[in-house]
Amino acid sequence: MKKINIAIDGPSAAGKSTIASLLAQKLGYVHLNTGAMYRACAYKALQQNVSLEDEDALVDLLSHSVLEMKNDGSVILDGKDISHAVRADEVSLAASCVSKHPKVRAALVRKQQEIAENGGYILDGRDIGTVVLPDAEVKVFMTASAHARALRRLNQNQEEGIATSDLETIEKEIEERDYQDTHRAASPLVQAEDAVCIDTSDLSIEETVDRILDLAKPFLSEGDVK
Ligand code: C5P
Repeated sequence: MKKINIAIDGPSAAGKSTIASLLAQKLGYVHLNTGAMYRACAYKALQQNVSLEDEDALVDLLSHSVLEMKNDGSVILDGKDISHAVRADEVSLAASCVSKHPKVRAALVRKQQEIAENGGYILDGRDIGTVVLPDAEVKVFMTASAHARALRRLNQNQEEGIATSDLETIEKEIEERDYQDTHRAASPLVQAEDAVCIDTSDLSIEETVDRILDLAKPFLSEGDVK
C-alpha cells in the first residue's frame, strides 16, 4: 500500500517529537521535526546578531544557509551538526519569535512540503495538519497540561545533558510560548477540523503511540507495523 503521511500538531513539549520518532520506527517511516527548522533559523540569527524582529533579514539569512534535515533526526546547518545546540532553552523562545514571520514560515513550509511529497513521513509541529500537509491521511492534535509538559521537558533535558532551567522557569516559558504560538497572526497553533485530539497528560508513551497506530490502521497493510 502507498505510504501515508501523519501530521502531529500541538503545543510545546506535549511529547510530539518522542511519539513521532517511535511511530517512525514502528512504520519504517521518517520523522521530520519541523520545530527544529525554526530553531535552526533562530540559532543562526542569535549567532549572527540578526534581530529576531527583522523579517527580511531572517529570510535573507535562511536563503544564504544550507539546512539539512537528516533522516536520523540530526540537524545540519552550513555543514555543522547543531542538533543539540538548537534544543537549548534560549533557542526555544527565539524560535517562537522567528516563527511569527509569514515569510520565514513560507520558506520553511515549502521545504517541509518538498521533503514529505512522496509520503512515508511523520511531521510534528504547529501547522502541519492545517497548512503544511492539509491532505495528510492521519492528523493528530496532541496536548497535555502545562505542568505535565514542563516536567517532561525538565527530565528530558537532564537525561540528555542539555542546558536547562528549573521547573518553574520551564513552565513559565512553556506558557509564554503557548501564548505566542496561539496568538500570532500567521498560522497560529489551532487544531485542524479533521484532527483527532489526544490529551497525553495521563497517557504513557506506548498508549499514545497505540492510539495513533489505531488511527493509521485503515491506511496500512498487514505487516506494516514492526
Ligand atoms: O516544536 P518545537 O518546540 O521545537 O518548536 C519551536 C518553535 O517553533 C515553536 O514554539 C513554534 O513557535 C515554532 N514552530 C512553528 N511551526 C511548526 C513548528 C514549530 O511555528 N510547524
